Amino acid sequence: MIECNDTDKALRHRKRMQRKKEIVDAAIARANQTKGLLLVLTGNGKGKSSSAFGMVARALGHGMRVAVAQFIKGRSDTGEEAFFRQQANVVWHVLGEGFTWDTQNLERDIETARRGWAVVQNMLRDPRLNLVVLDELTYPLKYGWLDMETVLEDLKNRPPMQHVIVTGRAAPQALCDLADTITEMHDVRHAYRSGIMAQNGIDL
Ligand code: ATP
Ligand code: MG
Repeated sequence: MIECNDTDKALRHRKRMQRKKEIVDAAIARANQTKGLLLVLTGNGKGKSSSAFGMVARALGHGMRVAVAQFIKGRSDTGEEAFFRQQANVVWHVLGEGFTWDTQNLERDIETARRGWAVVQNMLRDPRLNLVVLDELTYPLKYGWLDMETVLEDLKNRPPMQHVIVTGRAAPQALCDLADTITEMHDVRHAYRSGIMAQNGIDL
């Protein structure tokens, strides 16, 4: 009796998996286009920049060329910067000078952001770059330090096969409207709020 039940169960499982495979195969067959993607990683939870750097590792594994531009950069001792700067196919630009509450100088923040965008424009015109990461770009956009129309135009006019990843909280709607993939990190709990300082290898 037990054997019979087990056989039934196995049979039902196999049928279910067969149906599932047909659905998955059909979905894979439908996804037959290729293009440079715009990804937006936003939300209040942890994981936006580290997800972007995970994709940098993937791209490098495929022999692709990557550029990283960091807009708001409070510190220069992160593990990702130390690691990726050693890699041959990565260019790494720190374009920000830190958080607004650290710099405390609006004019200078605006000037820094605009000079930073000029550097990014060169990346977005370089078809040899397969992936461009614009880390924390949402902040200069949100504060109006960069002209949204210019940024959107430059993104639209980039080489067709170039992937771009934008990270940062509160991604503006106009940017999301252009994106192919949007992920919102949802903050459930963060160790920082229990008084635990940023940990090497996890937070920096
Ligand atoms: P990460 O670089 O770890 O992927 P992130 O890019 O999603 O984080 P940021 O807003 O750039 O988040 O913040 C960077 C730092 O702030 C990291 O040390 C991260 O652990 C921490 N952090 C991220 N989310 C939260 C949160 N909800 N509360 C407190 N600290 C956070
Ligand atoms: Mg980040």
